[in-house]
Amino acid sequence: MNPSSENVTVLDAMVIGAGVAGLYQLHRLREMGLNVRAYETGTGVGGTWYWNRYPGARFDSQAEIYQYWFSEELYKSWKPSERFPAQPETEEWLNFVADRLDLKKDIQFSTRIASAHFDEATGRWNVTTDAGEKINCQFLVACCGMLSAPLENRFKGQQNFKGEVYTTGLWPKGEVDLKGKRVAVIGTGATGIQVIQTIAPEVGSMKVFVRTPQYIIPMRNPKYSEQDWAGWCDRFNELKAKVRTTFAGFDYDFHDKAWADCTPEERQALLEDRWENGSLALWLASFPEMFVDEGVSEEISEFVRGKMRSRLGNDERLCDLLIPGKDDYGFGTHRVPLENKYLEVYLQDNVEAVDCQAAPIEEFVAEGIKTADGKVHEVDVIILAIGFDAGSGALSRIDFRGRGNRSLKEQWQKEITTAMGMQIHGYPNLFTTGAPLAPSAALCNMTTCLQYQVDWITNCIDHAIKNGKKVVEVSQETETEWVEHHDEVAAKTLVVKTDSWYMGSNVEGKPRRLISYIGGVGNYHKHCDDVAAQGYPGFEMK
Ligand code: NAP
Repeated sequence: MNPSSENVTVLDAMVIGAGVAGLYQLHRLREMGLNVRAYETGTGVGGTWYWNRYPGARFDSQAEIYQYWFSEELYKSWKPSERFPAQPETEEWLNFVADRLDLKKDIQFSTRIASAHFDEATGRWNVTTDAGEKINCQFLVACCGMLSAPLENRFKGQQNFKGEVYTTGLWPKGEVDLKGKRVAVIGTGATGIQVIQTIAPEVGSMKVFVRTPQYIIPMRNPKYSEQDWAGWCDRFNELKAKVRTTFAGFDYDFHDKAWADCTPEERQALLEDRWENGSLALWLASFPEMFVDEGVSEEISEFVRGKMRSRLGNDERLCDLLIPGKDDYGFGTHRVPLENKYLEVYLQDNVEAVDCQAAPIEEFVAEGIKTADGKVHEVDVIILAIGFDAGSGALSRIDFRGRGNRSLKEQWQKEITTAMGMQIHGYPNLFTTGAPLAPSAALCNMTTCLQYQVDWITNCIDHAIKNGKKVVEVSQETETEWVEHHDEVAAKTLVVKTDSWYMGSNVEGKPRRLISYIGGVGNYHKHCDDVAAQGYPGFEMK
């Protein structure tokens, strides 16, 4: 690519994505005075909150902490309507942020990045869009999202189904009319649960294909009055400082007394208290021993199973199908979904839980879904809530070529590695947010981690520029040290002993490695802060 050619856009920096991270990254680099543009596949800002417009989509970090922290004025200017706002409000909020910061003029929408090739001679990236547009930039920051490559077309014969098929992560804009229809939902993760509980009152009938049951926590979602929000605004500085130091980037943290030092009554009281909180506190602000000690894990799992059983009455079949068994996996080793009357949906006469562990889905046929027992489940609509190629998926869709024409996609098909989730050896001047091996997806409240990473990346780029350096690349040694540390921390936990998207087991052929760092957000920040304070040792600048 010849940057002096008329049809090449030449930039100091380029951001891929206009979600929570991309918006802030664009703002930070622009504030630095760089000539920067962001490119976004959607027609609007929002990222996750643009694409996941399925019925019932909402976050489960509380609104007071699912926030940008760089501007107190911005925080105070938007009043969330409730503790866990739904997708439309969150998309509206991100539009509000983009408008306040006047970001949209520097975002090119409806543009998918196809390839990015590093030019060793110039130390710059040559990027192309799927429309053939060319961009040449020095720094490339990929804010492509942690859970933004939805699994699609996974079923044999999908094209043969004569009804409608919707993928939750690609839900169409505008009304999808499910009233009175026979609907199938495949998937009972955080997404499936939100869809199922939301559409249950309107569908004619629903068949939910359940393969792996989930531990769940009932969400408490009070409306926020002006006064409530004023109370949170008064605590802005305290919350801002707190979320950076806790285990999971929330304002709550683990109990300060060890499980072993608590009496059974104390343990029970704490678990009840966290359960009643109606947030992820039972998971991320109770006993950290649940992550490492099988005995503690089982006791807490049984606590949750008991709560779930009581809601399903005496229906043994439903209990077996919807509640994880003692030998399945422990509470909190999968991402725990919050829910609202999800289990009660299965008590409706027009809802059937189909055991697709016993009889797996074989294929889609014209009338519906055929399972291995030979049965055809006839439906009008199929909703796929089957998850994502997490962490590495969104980046692997772009043909990244680093030094020596190495391919990130091919590399990650063998082993997924990064340095602190922010750089990859062999790909100079490429930075990433929400990437593998950084804390993410409830093991970190996303806004906490993404902002931290954007700040770290911005400061690193600033440091390079101020020192007259043109190229930044993490060394192999530094990356390997991080990977070894990441693996060592992960290996102590029960999370790596169970299948889930956290481990990449939901995507055939994906190399196994815990996709999120599990050493704690506070520790992660301290490590990255130390690297920055020491002048970025291990990040070679030329
Ligand atoms: P997920 O957790 O990966 O769940 C996918 C579901 O699809 C699982 O139940 C899986 O069953 C099922 N499935 C996949 N292929 C199947 C097949 N061939 N046959 C039958 N079932 C199949 O994906 P997700 O629900 O989209 O959630 C992903 C993550 O997104 C969450 O964990 C969370 O971090 C995030 N999220 C957050 C929120 C929020 O903040 N409130 C909401 C939604 C999502 P198996 O488990 O047996 O594979």
